[in-house]
Parts: sequence; structure tokens; C-alpha cells
Amino acid sequence: MIYGNTKVYSVIGNPVKHSKSPNMHNAAFRELGINACYVPLQPQNNDLEHVCALIRSGVLSGSNVTIPFKESVVNFVDVLTDEASMIGSVNTLYPKDGKLIGDNTDGLGFKKSLFLDLGFKPENKSAIILGAGGAAKAVTAKLCQAKLNSLAIFDIDTKKAEELLAHIDKFNYKTNVKLISSTKVDSFSKECDLIINCTPIGMKDDDPLIVSKDVFSSRHCVYDLVYTPPLTKLLSSAQQAGAKILNGMDMLAYQGAESFSIWENVEPPYEIMKKELANA
Ligand code: NAP
Repeated sequence: MIYGNTKVYSVIGNPVKHSKSPNMHNAAFRELGINACYVPLQPQNNDLEHVCALIRSGVLSGSNVTIPFKESVVNFVDVLTDEASMIGSVNTLYPKDGKLIGDNTDGLGFKKSLFLDLGFKPENKSAIILGAGGAAKAVTAKLCQAKLNSLAIFDIDTKKAEELLAHIDKFNYKTNVKLISSTKVDSFSKECDLIINCTPIGMKDDDPLIVSKDVFSSRHCVYDLVYTPPLTKLLSSAQQAGAKILNGMDMLAYQGAESFSIWENVEPPYEIMKKELANA
């Protein structure tokens, strides 16, 4: 039920009507009996500044931020948390003492799912990341923090890959990070311990397999950040070769649960949130 004093949270994106976050957060509010609701917002003319002002002033109690605003929203935030600075983007907004705070829970969501659900410990291991956009920023930060030994990055947009490398270089991680060309993707994938898809490739039925089928073996862990469909061509091929696989659903649920706990300062009902996402 919506009342006069119901708090309103949102997810800001464009497009945003496909987002499953409202299902997940509204289920959590219902479960805990919190008088709040969560709605999708697509700012007209991509005018983020005015939506941000509504959060700063407390008209909206908080918000998630999704594609394509995670990086541009940084310009409208008064205080960036250390986590958001380290990742270089914002997915969680809230007001505090008249200021707009920008935080990021994607990295934590990725790390939890990598450790708990895929069972992968990065220390002294090697990985390849395909795609160097917003999601890759959170993923690389957490892998480097967790003492991954070496990391290869490939993006069809060389400029994006270079920007990501420049961002990582600011933090003096011990991980040996290098950019690779498309011709090296298969050989690096074959040799490494962890293959991560941070591109949207795999969402559409006619998308190609992003690495060759014959690179996979039972020594691999393969993580696809895509969660629709749950079993992408990449994950299916890897599974057939005996690799351990994980899709992006757990990361999505963990990052949402983390945002929820930042806003409401309560233990989030993670299992309910994850179930709601899976059913959405
Ligand atoms: P993004 O900022 O658009 O970055 C994707 C990058 O991949 C772009 O630079 C893109 O280049 C590149 N790319 C596209 N096709 C490629 C290919 N065949 N090989 C190498 N690089 C390629 O998107 P994002 O926000 O990082 O999201 C990436 C994916 O992760 C999306 O599917 C998103 O839904 C998913 N995601 C999942 C979660 C989760 O919680 N599970 C969280 C965040 C994101 P162009 O721009 O030139 O196409």
C-alpha cells in the first residue's frame, strides 16, 4: 500500500522499464514491513541533475543508478565514497546532512558472488575480462584488491580499454594488468584460470560465442555478468567442457541487497530478493 508518508526509492536509467530492481526491492520492503516503495525513473532528455536534486533534498530517499548514467552521475554527487572512487562509478545514491552521497555496491556484489557462489579465490591466479565498460571497472577493482596475479583485458573499443587501464594504474595494485588484441583472446582464455564476460554479448539469441568453443576445460571458472538468459552460449559451452560457471544473477542480488542495507540500515532479506529476481 502507498500512504501519504511512504518513502520513495528509485532506479535511474535509460532505458529502465526492463529493470528487475523494482521487483527485488519492493519484495524486500514488503518482507520487512517497511513503508517504502521503489520505482523506475527515466529522466527526460537524460536530465540527471534534477533527479539528483530530488535525492539531495530527501524528496526521494535514495536511488540506484544504471546504464548509461553510472559514470556521468559522479558530476552531480557532493561526496563520493572511497568505494565509488576506487571503482570510478556510482550505482547507489542517498542524502546525508543536505549532501548527495554517491556509493557503489557493484564491486561488493561481484566479489561476494565470485567467492561464495563460484568458489573462486583470485590470489595468485590469472583472469581475462572481455569488455571494459562500467561493469568491468567494478570487476577489475575487486580482482586486483584480492591479489589476482595477472589480468588480460579486451574490448572492441580500444579507447575504453585504455581508459580502464589508466584508472586501474592509479591504485598501485600488484596485479600485472595488460590490454590484449582480439587475436590473443582465445590463447589467453585457454591459459587463464578465470574468464569473465563484461560485455552484453550473449543476451540475444543470435549473439556469437565471445571466445572459441575449444578454449574451455575443466580447470576453468567462467563468469558471465549477463543474467538474461540464465544460461548464455558462453556458459553452456564452458559447462559442457566441465568448467565451473556462474551467471550475473547473484551479483545483481548482492548489489541490490547491499544498497538496501545502506539505505535502511537493516539486514536485507537476501534470499527473498534473489527469489524475486529469478521470478521476475
Ligand atoms: P558497457 O559500459 O556498455 O560496457 C560493455 C563494453 O563491452 C563496451 O565497451 C562494449 O563496446 C564492449 N563490447 C561489446 N561487444 C564486445 C565484444 N564482442 N568483445 C569485447 N568487447 C565488447 O556495459 P556495462 O555496464 O559494463 O555492462 C556489461 C554487461 O554486464 C551488460 O550485459 C550488463 O547487463 C551486465 N551487468 C551485470 C551486472 C550484474 O549485477 N550482474 C551489473 C552490471 C552490468 P561498445 O560500447 O563499442 O559496444
